[in-house]
Amino acid sequence: MIEIKNVKKNFGKLEVLKDVSLKVDKGDVVVLLGPSGSGKTTLLRCINFLEQADEGMLTIDNQTVNLHTASSKEKLQIRKKTAFVFQNYGLFQNKTALQNITEGLITARKVSTKEAIKKAEEVLAWVGMLDKKDYYPSQLSGGQQQRIGIARAVALDPDVILFDEPTSALDPELIGEILTLIRNVAKKGITMIVVTHEMSFAQEVASKVVFMADGVVVESGTPKEIFYTPKEERTKKFLERIL
Ligand code: ATP
Repeated sequence: MIEIKNVKKNFGKLEVLKDVSLKVDKGDVVVLLGPSGSGKTTLLRCINFLEQADEGMLTIDNQTVNLHTASSKEKLQIRKKTAFVFQNYGLFQNKTALQNITEGLITARKVSTKEAIKKAEEVLAWVGMLDKKDYYPSQLSGGQQQRIGIARAVALDPDVILFDEPTSALDPELIGEILTLIRNVAKKGITMIVVTHEMSFAQEVASKVVFMADGVVVESGTPKEIFYTPKEERTKKFLERIL
């Protein structure tokens, strides 16, 4: 179980997260929806300490940390329980597809090189990229790079994978195949929090939808509740605009 409590984050005078709390059960696929600038990406980044929250508590797998004051050791412990899939893939440009996956396993997870290579080849085969294992990111398409990004996250076997708009940098014809891959990650029963603007994907894959606006959670519920019977005016307006 993951619990985020009372997270606040300002960038200068801009209050990006005003007081956000969220509960995610094991195996849940939580989709974060909301208008541009509502704070979705910032929330995801605070969970993984890519941003430092101003206030807030995080519990993952019975470990509770203060998101503002966590020590380096605590940050490392939390990072070990999470994996992040970036909008722009976030691959090391000077490493091959295989090395991009083995790197975290060897340095952060302390897996032996032999074991790391075995695991990396296994996940590369799973995402259909084993034949490209020695290619560098610059030699791969955006869709192929994101396959590596997702394979890397899955290889780490984390408590939760955080997806930050994983298809928004892709050409339209490549979006479908990456969404299919993310569906397959969900089928593995991995807990996921996904920021996306892909509404049909959200309706189909999410076990819980959280609608954010102006730095707060406006409402949350099942996809059916949020898409067909939203309670809040702001949710209704947002859905009218995009559906
Ligand atoms: P989108 O759907 O467009 O990605 P979002 O809901 O994910 O939006 P965030 O990316 O979390 O929104 O950004 C929320 C607000 O915080 C925006 O106004 C953004 O400009 C601002 N912001 C984000 N990161 C920074 C930063 N590092 N420095 C200053 N402002 C930032």
